[in-house]
Amino acid sequence: MPEKNVPSNFIRTIVQEDVLNNTHQGRVVTRFPPEPNGYLHIGHAKSICLNFGLAHEFGGRCHLRFDDTNPLKEEDVYVQSIQEDVRWLGYDWGRHLYFASDYFDQLWELALELIRREKAYVCSLSPEEIRQYRGTLTEPGQDSPYRTRSVEANLDLIHRMRAGEFTDGQHVLRAKIDMGHSNLNMRDPVIYRIMHARHHRTGDTWCIYPTYDFAHGLSDAIEGITHSLCTTEFEDHRPLYDWFLDNLPVPARPRQYEFARMNLNYTVLSKRRLIRLVQEGVVQGWDDPRLPTISGLRRRGIPPAAIRRFCELIGVGKSESTVDMAVLEHAVRDELNTTAPRVMGVLDPVKLVIVNYPQEQEEELEAVNNPEDESMGTRMVPFCRELYIERDDFREDPPRKFFRLAPGREVRLRYAYFVTCVEVIKDAEGRIQEIHCTYDPQTRGGGAPDGRKVKGTLHWVSARHCLRATINLYDRLFMVPDPTAEEKKGGDFMDQLNPDSLTVLRERPVEPHLGSAAAEERYQLERKGYFSVDPDSGPEELILNRTVTLRDTWAKLEKRHKG
Ligand code: ATP
Ligand code: MG
Repeated sequence: MPEKNVPSNFIRTIVQEDVLNNTHQGRVVTRFPPEPNGYLHIGHAKSICLNFGLAHEFGGRCHLRFDDTNPLKEEDVYVQSIQEDVRWLGYDWGRHLYFASDYFDQLWELALELIRREKAYVCSLSPEEIRQYRGTLTEPGQDSPYRTRSVEANLDLIHRMRAGEFTDGQHVLRAKIDMGHSNLNMRDPVIYRIMHARHHRTGDTWCIYPTYDFAHGLSDAIEGITHSLCTTEFEDHRPLYDWFLDNLPVPARPRQYEFARMNLNYTVLSKRRLIRLVQEGVVQGWDDPRLPTISGLRRRGIPPAAIRRFCELIGVGKSESTVDMAVLEHAVRDELNTTAPRVMGVLDPVKLVIVNYPQEQEEELEAVNNPEDESMGTRMVPFCRELYIERDDFREDPPRKFFRLAPGREVRLRYAYFVTCVEVIKDAEGRIQEIHCTYDPQTRGGGAPDGRKVKGTLHWVSARHCLRATINLYDRLFMVPDPTAEEKKGGDFMDQLNPDSLTVLRERPVEPHLGSAAAEERYQLERKGYFSVDPDSGPEELILNRTVTLRDTWAKLEKRHKG
């Protein structure tokens, strides 16, 4: 599903040239390789859009491959949620759903082959010793005393490792490369380790598991991947990726290319941190609308098209940068402006009584569903003597440039009539209880036949007909742009949480039209922002989640932060 005017990037240029030069017989096969150890987040969306987008653009295909080589952290619920999220983002892997664990037999055979080629050996150093022998960035490593084991001894040991004769950590299988290599990843990396752990798919079949480095490139080769796109932290692993492919009989020769990770300000993207937020109850679950998870963004009401557009806007480069939350919100507003129907709802209500409107009378007024798109039609909105308007749309003592309602002043009620404030009713504490107005019956629909103008137009809801909604307003989850910066100083990112990230408004009047709204439908509450119907919303309780405000409040925030 490519978007219009896809901007180019260095990876797209590489793919384009490969297609022109008939490299990989002109084929383009990419993959998105999540580890099923958490929910997907907006950073993953960048990788998803890139991989699926390129495959689609160049007539190739993109595989969904679960990188499930670590049985300790992986769970089936994540396998399900990841598939749902990728599909919701608008991408389809067709029949190309794979699991690295599907290749455990083939990877085992390839490991045996490496041993037979004298390019791998069983090492019996303890994990601690392996670390000591590895050397440092400035000092070369030392050969393991087990490096010279014979092929026969290695084959015997690896079979016994697989048979479960040893405990975790007692032996490992290592590639025999070069302990003096300047790249630490090339200093005889571990390729199999003993883990007596049940795997979410292979159960107890295995007690040795391949490492990511060994499994990843070989899985790419097995699937015939042409362009293996990953984030820059794997750049130093590329020589190893290539080494396995060069030293083993593989059916294809994929190439790895690295692009920069996405970071977003005022939030965290690593699964390790997201898991803490969920497990420590800071948020209400993986799909809490304050989280940058795909399921959280979805529950917040962010349309998949806006996420795809956002990924396009931020582009694909080599150097890491932090994207401003405002960029995401901009993409969301752009999309919802043309697609979300308008309705009226009042977040902070005060009663407006039209004293010259007959007590029993009521009528329906025609309202435009979306001024940006006539094809979305109109709806009828009920009107009567008593309405709700926003408390801050009235000022007893209006400052200059306040064009809304004030004593003696006339304003327009959207799609209804002109009203003039004639009296203000207060309670004993001086708080405004009711605003009394008169209306001009000649102004039905919102215009005066004599051509007189008013400066303010207010939204309103009929007190007699309105529904009552629970409205969730969200603010940024953290108080600082980079909560993880605290960790570099020995602190905890959790200390930076914004205590006011969620405000729940109860029993707020909204127009009755919302009674028929289905879960996940998105609306603009006029002048108040875009909202979506929460999946838990129902006849007993209408729940609306604010997706974004109508204007950019983040830019202001950033300014304040910098200034
Ligand atoms: P995290 O650090 O959030 O736990 P991860 O890299 O461990 O993420 P994987 O499941 O291994 O998560 O990632 C699947 C794919 O998504 C990988 O190709 C990875 O490079 C990519 N990816 C993960 N996070 C980001 C990000 N922030 N920006 C771009 N791509 C990302
Ligand atoms: Mg990972």
